Amino acid sequence: MSTQVDKSKLEKLSLPLSVENQDWIKSKIRDIPDFPKPGIIFKDLTPLLKDVDAFTFAIQALTEKCRSLNPKYIAGIEARGFILGPIIAYNLGVGFIPIRKPGKLPYEVQKLEYALEYGTDCIEVHADAVEKNDRVVLIDDLLATGGTAGAADNLMKVLGANVVGIGFIVELAFLEGRSKLPKESDVFALITY
Ligand code: AMP
Repeated sequence: MSTQVDKSKLEKLSLPLSVENQDWIKSKIRDIPDFPKPGIIFKDLTPLLKDVDAFTFAIQALTEKCRSLNPKYIAGIEARGFILGPIIAYNLGVGFIPIRKPGKLPYEVQKLEYALEYGTDCIEVHADAVEKNDRVVLIDDLLATGGTAGAADNLMKVLGANVVGIGFIVELAFLEGRSKLPKESDVFALITY
């Protein structure tokens, strides 16, 4: 099996991806009904991560989009943003900032609570993660209702960051999460359902 990305695919890295490439990436994402609870169709990205050609292509496409936004940092949202974000940061030669669940970060933190359908959740980042007006691109695997990415965006803004982009592999557009994200950020995804 080839471990090289098809060059004709790499030539088409700008977003939006061609329909052919979107279909290729979609073919690597598995639907798991009723996970983690009844009624949710979980988009399982592990087949994509395992496929070296498709994963390389997805990372390159996200990297080139992020490059165009000229960030000082890539910030990744725990947990699946930690799979994607650091590779993009490495590709761009910029630093990576982890946005974590409560109680995981050892130094002084800035925290933000946000509403879920039932109850609240919380995310944290180190208080010295950014300086005022630093350009940051947020990365997560999937945009659903937009609660998580919206909270991460607010958290970075509390620290004074300039969130220039918010990027995903998958956008569940029917949930309209994009409407919860700031108009001034470039919100992008490789594929949309
Ligand atoms: P939300 O805050 O509703 O936009 O949810 C986004 C977060 O939850 C991301 O970190 C996703 O990894 C995860 N998530 C939400 N819905 C799904 C889904 N249907 N399939 C896979 N992951 C999901």
